[in-house]
Amino acid sequence: MRTYRSPFERLRAKFDESDPECPACGYSDENTNWRVTTTGDRVTYQFVCPTCEAVETREMRLA
Ligand SMILES: [Zn+2]
Repeated sequence: MRTYRSPFERLRAKFDESDPECPACGYSDENTNWRVTTTGDRVTYQFVCPTCEAVETREMRLA
């Protein structure tokens, strides 16, 4: 039995499964997760690199 998931939920699940990687130094850790904040119609994924403090931000809009 399958549970219906909206396109957004699928996208979010895909995002949650992917590990963030630092664009500056390449740091990546499978134990590192995106910090997710939701504001109105958009969801922001943010990752702060623990080694060089570079900030990676991805934004998704809820259509
Ligand atoms: Zn880094």
